[in-house]
Amino acid sequence: MPLESTEALVVGSYIFNEQDKIVHLLTSSNGIQKIVAPGSSKGKNRFGSLLELFTEGEFFFYRKEDRELATLSKGDVITSYFETVSEPGRIFYFYLIAEIVMKFVPPNFNSERIYKLIKAVLNSSRDGVEMKYLILYFMVWILRIEGMMFEAGRCYKCNSQHNLKVWVMSDFRGVVCEKCKNGESLLLEKTGIEFLEWTKRNTASEIFETLSSKEYKIVFLILKSKIEHHGEFNMNSARYLVDMN
Ligand SMILES: [Zn+2]
Repeated sequence: MPLESTEALVVGSYIFNEQDKIVHLLTSSNGIQKIVAPGSSKGKNRFGSLLELFTEGEFFFYRKEDRELATLSKGDVITSYFETVSEPGRIFYFYLIAEIVMKFVPPNFNSERIYKLIKAVLNSSRDGVEMKYLILYFMVWILRIEGMMFEAGRCYKCNSQHNLKVWVMSDFRGVVCEKCKNGESLLLEKTGIEFLEWTKRNTASEIFETLSSKEYKIVFLILKSKIEHHGEFNMNSARYLVDMN
């Protein structure tokens, strides 16, 4: 059987048939691929650290005609992020990123930009940038990549621009200005608007603390609710984030 190979990031796995795992791989051009990793749920699996969450590797696999899923044969670690991802203060942010990718990224989606986004978050986190802000950067960009992010200062109804205060529409499609608001209660103020605009022009590694704790919570809540609304799911991992409680 011919071996195929792909470069990918591990974004999830679960035990299958007691001894095996099904591993979800985010490839850079072909969306999420599911493959069976035989024997990988046992204590000493032959794949070692290759299957840790967010390991970047080259995966070699083969397909049998009667099986729906490809089978992992071997792989090489390209970059291990194990120390970064498993650090207690960061692990839940990475669970959340994995959850969003698994539930929100459509199958066979051209995933090159999402792949680069996750790599930027991983590298920035490894270099010491705070996860608290990297998670906002990740959420705003995943919405932008999928064409769902609104212009933070622009009113969805009257198209007025450079508003210093806006209210988020209840279906999260956009924001409205003071004149157009009609019962919307979630207020996004100047620094929150500026932060969202700032992410357009800057990289993940440049993120620094600009929001007060109250504003931070509002921006997080808006992005989380928007992803949940469009993706039709609830982010289970979000409840473990200490900053939000
Ligand atoms: Zn308006």
